[in-house]
Amino acid sequence: MIRVENLHRHFGGFRAVDGASLEIETGSITGLVGPNGAGKTTLFNVIAGALPPTSGRVFMDGEDITGLPPHELFHKGLLRTFQIAHEFGSMSCRENLMMVPGGQSGEVLWNTWFGRKRIADEERALRAKADEVLEFLTIEHLADHPAGAISGGQKKLLELGRTMMVDAKIVFLDEVGAGVNRTLLMTIADTIIRLNKERGYTFCVIEHDMDFIGKICDPVIVMAEGKKLAEGTLDQIKANEAVIEAYLGT
Ligand code: ADP
Repeated sequence: MIRVENLHRHFGGFRAVDGASLEIETGSITGLVGPNGAGKTTLFNVIAGALPPTSGRVFMDGEDITGLPPHELFHKGLLRTFQIAHEFGSMSCRENLMMVPGGQSGEVLWNTWFGRKRIADEERALRAKADEVLEFLTIEHLADHPAGAISGGQKKLLELGRTMMVDAKIVFLDEVGAGVNRTLLMTIADTIIRLNKERGYTFCVIEHDMDFIGKICDPVIVMAEGKKLAEGTLDQIKANEAVIEAYLGT
């Protein structure tokens, strides 16, 4: 689904991404691991349109998407999750989900004059969809809670829920496990697997927790010094000499 060709992203003279080439297969949950500073987040930022590349190309289903802004990628079904934004913390979990899809009629002035009924219908449909998503995530009891008041792990689930409000094809997850307790981490892992199997999402996941990677990811791509170092199952990369050296070297 995604092909990255000889991608570079430099900061001044520093090569954070230094000729990375890799592929993310349709239907996979691909892990992206590597020592700190390997360039994983920078690579995500370039693929997801948050940073322009210095050079190189990114393709989605064969189409060149290099440098497209995040909202255009969003419409193609390429999403990157972010922490629930600070300013939405006082809104309920349901409202946070209802905020996601752009382009509702309510945003167009004409419709506030001529389309009140349609707006009400759309809002009802959005609300029903948000409730269905909360149920899928098994956090329907949090529907009316302010998003700022739920736990870190529940916020991660809500982030996944936001991808379900649109027709995501591929979702990039950056360190879903950071600061999340073990039980919720495994719930998040199960949710990712269900989204993959039941809804057909492809995932690319940056994560330091190797249990988490081992549970959900195949294949695992190892990055070091701005490029792909190895690829395989978790067991294969754990036995790879170059990978061991890259980790020990940091
Ligand atoms: P990883 O996610 O693998 O830990 P990053 O992509 O965050 O690696 O960072 C790779 C390298 O690029 C790091 O050494 C980091 O300090 C550097 N870097 C990242 N963003 C910037 C930036 N905006 N300006 C300068 N250096 C940066």
